[in-house]
Amino acid sequence: MTLETVDTLVVGAGQAGVAMSEHLGKLGVPHLVLERERIAERWRTGRWDSLVANGPAWHDRFPGLEFDDLDPDAFASKDRVADYFEAYAKQIDAPIRTGVDVKKVVRNAGRPGFTVETSRGVIEAQRIVVATGPFQRPIIPPIAPKQTANLVQIHSADYRNPQQLPQGAVLVVGAGSSGVQIAEELMRAGKRVYLSVGPHDRPPRAYRNRDFCWWLGVLGLWDMETAVPGREHVTIAVSGARGGHTVDFRRLAHEGMTLVGLTKAFNDGVATFEADLATHLANGDANYLSLLDAADAYVTRNGLDLPEEPEARASMPDPQCVTQPILELDLREAGVTSIVWATGYANEYSWLQVDAFDEKGKPKHQRGVSSEPGVYFVGLPWLSRRGSSFIWGVWHDAKHVAGHIATQSQYLDYRDATQRDQVKPDQHTERAEAGTEINNAIGVV
Ligand SMILES: Cc1cc2nc3c(=O)[nH]c(=O)nc-3n(C[C@H](O)[C@H](O)[C@H](O)COP(=O)(O)OP(=O)(O)OC[C@H]3O[C@@H](n4cnc5c(N)ncnc54)[C@H](O)[C@@H]3O)c2cc1C
Repeated sequence: MTLETVDTLVVGAGQAGVAMSEHLGKLGVPHLVLERERIAERWRTGRWDSLVANGPAWHDRFPGLEFDDLDPDAFASKDRVADYFEAYAKQIDAPIRTGVDVKKVVRNAGRPGFTVETSRGVIEAQRIVVATGPFQRPIIPPIAPKQTANLVQIHSADYRNPQQLPQGAVLVVGAGSSGVQIAEELMRAGKRVYLSVGPHDRPPRAYRNRDFCWWLGVLGLWDMETAVPGREHVTIAVSGARGGHTVDFRRLAHEGMTLVGLTKAFNDGVATFEADLATHLANGDANYLSLLDAADAYVTRNGLDLPEEPEARASMPDPQCVTQPILELDLREAGVTSIVWATGYANEYSWLQVDAFDEKGKPKHQRGVSSEPGVYFVGLPWLSRRGSSFIWGVWHDAKHVAGHIATQSQYLDYRDATQRDQVKPDQHTERAEAGTEINNAIGVV
């Protein structure tokens, strides 16, 4: 059996893998994308049924294709987003092979490149691009109580719809975009909901006739290169559900949701919460107002004709759960029969056995170019900027990474005078042609 070889192997065909393929293809870098399931699988099956994109259709897309069946201001459903990336892969003729799990990558000893073990055989690659996503392994924190028959516990990654949960009240832990959207859906389905709220940013959905995605763009906030220290992991509470609306925790409480502070512990069926709810709400408000202020200043500075919106600064009164915070909750007495942990994700790189990680297991890289030569990352939060893990941002990062790969290839193609004399003229093009053959042979499957 002949060993399959490829110049650049991209692992993962979500939006990051598709973007990589587009840029590598444009630069003539021979490559192959391996995906363990289907293109954009996480959008297809890895999220809850009613999820829509957090950004409007005009914004949450790649430059080369529009959502032509949607109003530009609409929010695409998760399946529409998955269809979009499938269509995009077809449009660029991306060499994607689906249903192939990459199980192990090791650097070759004494020769260039990597040996890649997959569920369908071994591949040799000169370069590896890791596009396996910013959100790989759901995390449920160690404070979680023991699993019992009376208390169903799931991570937001496994939440699909309200019918999935048993009758009774639910505690949602985590109030980023996932937690707050799931909590609101459960409340609207008639459930009693407790929502545990931590630090968050809370941009207005829209202000002065412009979506917050537009404001973050014109204000240069998507392009921020590093997070404010200590706020790297602060989640953004935003929602495109039901046509899009600003996340307002006080409104949710007035509609019947019970807000609590950070979840501290569970002892003998009693949940305890920090007394920090008011602080988190106040910080979220400050973040909200700072964006309105920056937007107003931008309008004035540029003399834009955008209608004023003073009512956006109005705030509802603090509900009782804020003024008299609940610090302890007996789950049985409160009728809580389920907990949804919307507590984020960790990386999973056990398959990538190269020297590209720091002591905490975090990828070491500069704008996606890893400390291990020949290894690259795309799609990670803050890879180059705030927008890096989002649809539009990953496309730009992939362009940079592909450019780096193409430049490295050019260096390696250099031959000094003595070598040039030994090489027959048609050998110069062999490398590129070999890659073209691989691309043509594979196609999108
Ligand atoms: C609930 C939720 C809502 C979001 N909403 C938005 C939004 O509205 N707008 C926005 O811009 N961003 C949004 N994001 C953020 C981001 O756009 C998504 O997380 C997106 O799926 C990331 O794309 P990706 O290609 O980097 O990773 P993924 O979509 O996770 O794709 C990685 C792929 O790699 C494959 N893979 C992993 N390991 C291997 C392996 N060893 N071998 C082979 N294949 C492998 C996986 O099967 C997967 O298909 C959202 C995220 C979440 C969690």
